[in-house]
Amino acid sequence: MIELPEATVIARQMSAELAGRRIAEGNRGNSTHKFAFCSGTPEEYEAILKGAVVGEAKGHGSAILVPIEPDHVLVLGGGGESILYHHSTRTFPKKTHLMLRFERDTYLTVTVQGWGNVLLLPQATAGSHRHVAAEKIAPLSDGFTWEYFRGLFEALDEGSSKSIKGFLISEPGVWGIGNGCLQDILYQAKIHPKRRVVDIAEDEQRTLYDAIVDTLSQMVELGGRESERDLYGNRGRYVRILDSKTQSRPCPECGTPIEKTQYLGGAVYFCPSCQAQ
Ligand SMILES: [Zn+2]
Repeated sequence: MIELPEATVIARQMSAELAGRRIAEGNRGNSTHKFAFCSGTPEEYEAILKGAVVGEAKGHGSAILVPIEPDHVLVLGGGGESILYHHSTRTFPKKTHLMLRFERDTYLTVTVQGWGNVLLLPQATAGSHRHVAAEKIAPLSDGFTWEYFRGLFEALDEGSSKSIKGFLISEPGVWGIGNGCLQDILYQAKIHPKRRVVDIAEDEQRTLYDAIVDTLSQMVELGGRESERDLYGNRGRYVRILDSKTQSRPCPECGTPIEKTQYLGGAVYFCPSCQAQ
């Protein structure tokens, strides 16, 4: 799943490789998929893409926004999109849900695993789409300050039963963090995923803020997480501290076996000693 680190890395690569390139032809790929979210018919995609020019791609949270000039934007990311650049059709994946052929015959393909976005939206209204949410402030952007983050806690009802996992990854949440990045962030902050947000003291909030910024920065610097691939099919180099492979293994800090439990629609991993509930 593409989360903020991968969206940032892939957007940078797309920008460097594709900005200014003209699309000779483009379409919705060779396969359909109920959960490959599109915003128009195959004919509309072909008409918009043909002859359009790619602008500077940008990451916004877990979304990748690619201007398709003059007046559209391609929205990828946030789900299980495999986004690949090709010098030949020979390296195409078997199934594609978006295909762009550029002049001088290089290609971009997008294949959606699970669910994901291949939206082609008018630039004028794209920002209000719920998978774009232009008004949200994502970590590593200028607006994501300690004051902003502290404000999210202050806005919460005193009697709220929301857990820190729910607080970070669901509405309004921290834009761009999903279940994949969450585990190491909470581990670094020494906070159990099920702890109630209202019980988290201000010094812990600050530690959590630093853990979000530090962990995501490291993931970006290392080209994304090891479980994910970039525009060229290369795996990221960030090896997660907590994931399915580390269950029952000793915590790197204290040696207690790492535990796993299903919680809020996904597995959470934690050290029961470092991250007491
Ligand atoms: Zn531990």
